[in-house]
Amino acid sequence: MNPQADARRDLPSIDSVMRQADVAALVGSFSREALTRLARRAVDGVRALAIATPPSADDSDGRRGRLFADAVAATLAGAAATSRPSPRRVINATGVVLHTNLGRAPLSPEATAAVAEVAAGYADVELELGTGTRGSRHVHLARPIIEALETTCPALDGSGLDAIAVNNCAGAILLVLAELARGREVIVSRGHLVEIGGGFRVPDVMRQGGARLVEVGTTNRTRLADYADAVTSDTAVILTVHPSNFRIVGFTESVAMADLAVLGADRGIPLVDDIGSGCLLDTAAFGIGGAMREPRPSESLVAGASVVTFSGDKLLGGPQSGVIVGASHLVDRIRRHPLARALRLDKLGMAALGATLAHYRRGDAPHSIPIWRMIGAAQAELAARADALATLLRRSGTACDVSPGFSAVGGGSMPGVTLPTTLVRVKGGVPAEILARWLRRAPGGGVPVICRIEDGSVVLDPRTVPLGDDILVAEEVASAVGASRRAEPSRSDKE
Ligand SMILES: *Cc1c(COP(=O)(O)O)cnc(C)c1O
Repeated sequence: MNPQADARRDLPSIDSVMRQADVAALVGSFSREALTRLARRAVDGVRALAIATPPSADDSDGRRGRLFADAVAATLAGAAATSRPSPRRVINATGVVLHTNLGRAPLSPEATAAVAEVAAGYADVELELGTGTRGSRHVHLARPIIEALETTCPALDGSGLDAIAVNNCAGAILLVLAELARGREVIVSRGHLVEIGGGFRVPDVMRQGGARLVEVGTTNRTRLADYADAVTSDTAVILTVHPSNFRIVGFTESVAMADLAVLGADRGIPLVDDIGSGCLLDTAAFGIGGAMREPRPSESLVAGASVVTFSGDKLLGGPQSGVIVGASHLVDRIRRHPLARALRLDKLGMAALGATLAHYRRGDAPHSIPIWRMIGAAQAELAARADALATLLRRSGTACDVSPGFSAVGGGSMPGVTLPTTLVRVKGGVPAEILARWLRRAPGGGVPVICRIEDGSVVLDPRTVPLGDDILVAEEVASAVGASRRAEPSRSDKE
C-alpha cells in the first residue's frame, strides 16, 4: 500500500470537520465558503503531522484519529479567536495613564458622543452651512484650538495665530518642515535629536520633509552662540524638540525659547517648537512642579515661537491627532501644502478633538477629561477603590493585599514623574506571568485586563481603571485565577 495514503488514513474529512460543534459556533462570523476554506486549511495543516506520525500496528483504539481531530479543532479555535474584530476594548490596570500600546488617551463622554454622532451620519466637514458653498475642513478646529490655548494661558494673545490639526504630531512636524524648509537648512541642537518611541526619530522625519539637518551644540549643552554661528543664508528654520521621554540631568545647558525667538526674529528665521505632549494645563496644580513641570505650547508661543506642534492624544487627552499652531502667515502656507491633504484628520478625529478642546474652553478639563481625572485622582479615593477591589477579590476566593505604590504618566510624557497610588497585589498561587497571560485572554469571554508585574506579583492600579469597572476587574481576575489553576501546567508553559 502507498505509505503516504496510509499515513493519511486517520485524517478527518472536510465534511466531518464541518459538522463539528466548534465550527457550527463560527457560522455567525464566517460565510459558508470561508468556513469550508478554513476547514480545508485546518485539515491540510494536519497532513504534515499525519505523514510525520506513521500509523503503528497497535493503534486500534483510534488514538491517532483523535490526535488529528484535536489538532484541526485547535486550528479552528485559533481562527475563531481572530474572527473577533480588533482592536478591542481592554481594561488598563497598569496605572500608566498614557499607555502607548493601549491607544493612549481615552476620550471623555462628550468626545465619545461627538464621534458617535458624526460617525453614523453625514457632517458639514467641507460645507459652509451659512452659504451652502464648499468650505474648508480646517476651519472647524482653528478657533477651538486657539481658544483652548488662550483660556488655559491668559498671557497668550491669540489674535495673530492660526491653527490646523492633522493625523498625528509626527505628521505635523513632517508637514511644517516640508512647507517651511524643503531643500534648505534646519538648525537643531544635538540634545534635541531624540527618538520618541516606536522607531520615530526626529532626524529621520526632518529628512523625509526634505530638510537638511544642521546639528549644533552637544547632547548636554547647547548655547545661543551655537545657534547664531550656524545661521546661513540657507537657514529656513530653527527647530527645538522637547525631549519628552527622557531627561538629561547634571551638567546641562539649553537656550531659553525667548532668546531663540529673538535670534530668529533678528535674522528673519521661523522658530518651530515641537513640544510633543500638548499639555494645556499647568501640571504644578497637579503636584507636578519644579523641574518636573511639563512645558505648555501656549508658553512657547508667548516666548515667541513662530510655530508649535503637539499631539492630540497625549496630555491634551483627545484623539490621535497632531496640532500645528503659529503665526497666521506661516500656518496659511502650511495648510496649502499638498501633504496637508495626505495627512488630514478624518471626521471622527475632528469631532473628538473639537469636543475635547471644548472642555478646556469651558474650564472643566481637569475633571471631565479622563487622563486629567486619572492624573489628579485623590490618594484617598485610590486607596478606597483598592480596598474595595481587594474585598471583592477575597470574596471570590483570591488572596491579595493592598499596599502603597506608584503610577506613571507614560506615553513618553513626564519621564521620572511618579504619582502615589494604592496597589492591589494578587496572590493567586499562580506564577505572575501565567496569571497576567490569562488576564489578557479574558477566559470568561469578558474584557482583557492588562496589569503590571512587580516583585513577582500581578499588581492592579485602580488609577487607570474606569470608575464603573472595578467589579468587572474583580470578576476577570477571579476567572483568570480559576483558568490558570485549571490549565495543565505543561500547556500553560508552552503557550
Ligand atoms: C510624541 C511626540 C511626537 C510624536 O507624536 P505622535 O502624535 O505620536 O505622532 C513628536 N514629538 C515629540 C516631542 C513627542 O513627544
